Amino acid sequence: MDNCIFCKIIKREIPSEIVYEDEKILAFKDINPVAPVHVLIIPKVHVRNVMEIDHQNADILKDIHLAAKQIALKVGLGDKGFRLITNCGEEAGQTVFHLHYHLIGGKELGPKII
Ligand code: 5GP
Ligand code: ZN
Repeated sequence: MDNCIFCKIIKREIPSEIVYEDEKILAFKDINPVAPVHVLIIPKVHVRNVMEIDHQNADILKDIHLAAKQIALKVGLGDKGFRLITNCGEEAGQTVFHLHYHLIGGKELGPKII
């Protein structure tokens, strides 16, 4: 989508620190990290959030999880652990409306919400 920041990152119109890429997925460091490891994992197709996932495009979720596993192994969090979080919609705090999962870790993570 033309005015989407993450689509611009995919097209290299906005720079980012890429940590993983394959045919369908891009992952890059969050510009405002909340933990030593804070990576955003996004599909290369523009999907607004989980509410736009359906049976046709649900493979995106599998691809994101497989990428998360590769990234966790690459940065040494496979055994230590990490969180994989997506905010869906305004009340959940979503600010960029291109589906993304936060992979965070590298320290003892704060209080669990759930
Ligand atoms: P949300 O709040 O929608 O769950 O997450 C959006 C995330 O995108 C935030 O953590 C924010 O720091 C990150 N972000 C926003 N703009 C940019 C950008 O231009 N580059 C990068 N690398 N991260 C961004
Ligand atoms: Zn987009």
